[in-house]
Amino acid sequence: MTTVAAMSAEALPAEFNPFLAMAERFETASDHLGLDPGVRKVLKTPDRELTVAIPVQMDDGRLEVFTGYRVQHNFSRGPCKGGIRFAPDVNLDEVKALAAWMTWKCSVVDVPFGGGKGGVICDPRTLSEAELEKITRRYTSAIMDIIGPDRDVPAPDVNTGEKHMAWFMDTYSMHVRRTCTAVVTGKPIQLGGSKGRTEATGRGVMLVAREGIKKLGLRPEQCRVVVQGSGNVGGIGAMLMQREGYKIVSISDMYGAIYEPKGLDIPEVLAYVREKKRLTGYPKAQAIKQEEQLSLDCEILVPAATENQITSKNADKVKAKLVIEGANGPTTAAADKILEKRGIIVVPDILANAGGVTVSYFEWVQDRAGFFWTEETVNSRLEQIMSSSFAAVDETAKKHKTSLRIGAYILAIGRVAEVYRLRGTYA
Ligand code: NAD
Repeated sequence: MTTVAAMSAEALPAEFNPFLAMAERFETASDHLGLDPGVRKVLKTPDRELTVAIPVQMDDGRLEVFTGYRVQHNFSRGPCKGGIRFAPDVNLDEVKALAAWMTWKCSVVDVPFGGGKGGVICDPRTLSEAELEKITRRYTSAIMDIIGPDRDVPAPDVNTGEKHMAWFMDTYSMHVRRTCTAVVTGKPIQLGGSKGRTEATGRGVMLVAREGIKKLGLRPEQCRVVVQGSGNVGGIGAMLMQREGYKIVSISDMYGAIYEPKGLDIPEVLAYVREKKRLTGYPKAQAIKQEEQLSLDCEILVPAATENQITSKNADKVKAKLVIEGANGPTTAAADKILEKRGIIVVPDILANAGGVTVSYFEWVQDRAGFFWTEETVNSRLEQIMSSSFAAVDETAKKHKTSLRIGAYILAIGRVAEVYRLRGTYA
């Protein structure tokens, strides 16, 4: 993690505060929509913020207390939806921003969910499997009253995955005295998970890249790609893009970055990371500094690691023509302006990484129906939603003569505001 990401929210300069970053884009889009000041207040304010204490008996017998959050930003379009992250730098401002981004993301791809997000302040690298399971289960029971298939449906995020979702589903099910698979998505297939969910966010990144390069008049074989992050989004996104014919010249993880101008063999790189738990030492590429990655010569840059990576300090060094935001919030609002001035197209996070929530929606639908789809059905429905959403965002941006990011916000906020108008204010 960068130093910036490791600071507490209070210590963060305004540029790096993700909630302020979201609010700035929200205001710009709301100006385009001519949104009423009262409705702006409603849509900007999280519906609910919950902070919980998670006491856990550690392996050495010590009692430790972790802090967890669940924020439900807006549930007017349906149950809240959003991941749970386990990281030492989790803070309430970050969770609030991520929850709001989920509201806009679900709206951009037009799935019937609102936005939520959760997190636990902990460092999974220092925790045993048993401690992680205890944290997950106690966190689940602590937020029990506000979640459920019709209320709020969590999912994996940074440092959480299938096994955490299995523990989450089991804990919830024990409390409600029935097996309830639809309470969480991103589960193992045997527990009601959906085929294609693991690859969905990376697949979505690949699908928007397909649409993005059309705007530049390029074909995949003409594009060198730099990917920051080699986890679920970056690793799988890079692999699927390589399969489409792109040349992946650099990839990184939290320990370092590698570069090979002739193109990396991504499945081999990922197999190395699985075995060694880090990229460092990969023998068939040059080791470079993580910071150097963002200014490498390439056509496409995919930041797919964490927030605040492209900032006012380095946006002028980005050489890519197209930035595809696999991560949430990798570009600050100040950097947006610099990239826009330089003619660099940014496919914003709320569209670029929406493949994950789209297939999470498919998983929730399948769990509720008790009828499961083939991987081909999942992938073709995802492709249809990602390409039509890209077209809708592009059209909105053109109509308002603005960037794809603000176009996406206009589309998303407009849809939520319309639902709010139709439902009215309950008093
Ligand atoms: P992950 O934990 O699987 O992978 C994160 C990767 O980023 C790891 O390779 C890690 O080593 C690397 N990393 C962390 N800090 C880095 C740094 N400073 N420089 C370079 N690499 C760094 O997480 P993920 O699920 O791939 O999520 C990545 C981002 O995508 C997050 O912002 C997350 O919120 C977002 N996202 C994830 C999903 C999903 O379905 N997993 C969906 C939408 C958005």
